[in-house]
Amino acid sequence: MAGTSNQKIDLRNLGFRECFRVTIEGDAGEPARVVRDGRDLWHIVSERGEFVAALSGKFRRQAKARGDQPAVGDWVLAETKGDDDRALIHRVLPRQTAIARKVPGDTVETQVVAANVDIVFIVNALDGGRNFNLRRIERYLALVRESGAAPVLVLNKCDLCADPESSAAELRALAPTVPVLITSAISGRGITDLRELLESGATCALLGPSGVGKSAIVNQLLGEEVKETGEVRARDRRGRHTTTYRELLRLACGALVIDTPGLREIQLWGGEENLADVFPDVTEIAQQCRFADCRHEKEPACAVRLAVAEGRLPARRLDNFLQLRGELEELAERRQRHLQRVERRHRRVLQRGVDKDDAPRKRDWE
Ligand code: GDP
Ligand code: ZN
Repeated sequence: MAGTSNQKIDLRNLGFRECFRVTIEGDAGEPARVVRDGRDLWHIVSERGEFVAALSGKFRRQAKARGDQPAVGDWVLAETKGDDDRALIHRVLPRQTAIARKVPGDTVETQVVAANVDIVFIVNALDGGRNFNLRRIERYLALVRESGAAPVLVLNKCDLCADPESSAAELRALAPTVPVLITSAISGRGITDLRELLESGATCALLGPSGVGKSAIVNQLLGEEVKETGEVRARDRRGRHTTTYRELLRLACGALVIDTPGLREIQLWGGEENLADVFPDVTEIAQQCRFADCRHEKEPACAVRLAVAEGRLPARRLDNFLQLRGELEELAERRQRHLQRVERRHRRVLQRGVDKDDAPRKRDWE
């Protein structure tokens, strides 16, 4: 039980900063960090261990916007009850940084997917495929800069590239003030450089398209054997030697890694409307397709394919369009599956109280 142990967790091990202290003086509750975010329940760790927390009634009434809800990495003021492993969150402490995404289908509302992140590694891969894309990297940079965190550009899979330096030079030209690291999660090259950027108590996150090696890099940082990842499917985290439900991991160096599906493959484009923003040419020609819902694949009387055949639209442009649309659809599906998993889990927790899996693991934070 969290409340019964005498030994306290040092909040600095969770990334606590003294500047948070002044914002909580005189208020009820104790500071705790959100280590897992759900729809209605949050896993938080305070000095006394891990708790499953809900929002207090007052908080719920006040926090109308989704951006006000706690996110992984947030510091909250929470009240725990006796020996129970449950807690109530009274409020979210002011965020130092916030990585936000637009809520799909809504043009104004944003959702914070991670808070108080100091460094974001924007991971791309030099595997000769589509994993090195300057326009996409620019979008990631914009997103990170907006969050307030410091971006670092990582070029992974350098073992598959004859000349990683020339790609690094392109990135330096694109963003002269941003550090660029060349890494291989397979050979281990550059992992030390990456680790050197991680001070004890700092919180980092990895962003980038699926398959570039984010899991493999985290595993390297966790000090795992490299061969493990090769066997783990890109989006299957079961192979990790770490608790799978928690989304804030602590490295041996004392730094913390926020790793959530919603963050790692954060949507750069809000949705269908934005696909149109990126491909106005394709979208305009598509208005002449016979079918309003034409996918420009095998449909008859497709104006887009006709435009390519007649040389009015570069074939490459259509390829890029189809690729991005595919990525967006895959992301939407994955997010849906993730939400379903989270919901199933929460239903279980609500039904059976705090189950064994959710029991506090204080030792992880000591
Ligand atoms: P994620 O989706 O970004 O988390 O990517 P993963 O970490 O799951 O990696 C995707 C695939 O790329 C896996 O098969 C990894 O073994 C492989 N991979 C990751 N990093 C490297 C690397 O530096 N070099 C090579 N050759 N393969 C890598
Ligand atoms: Zn068409």
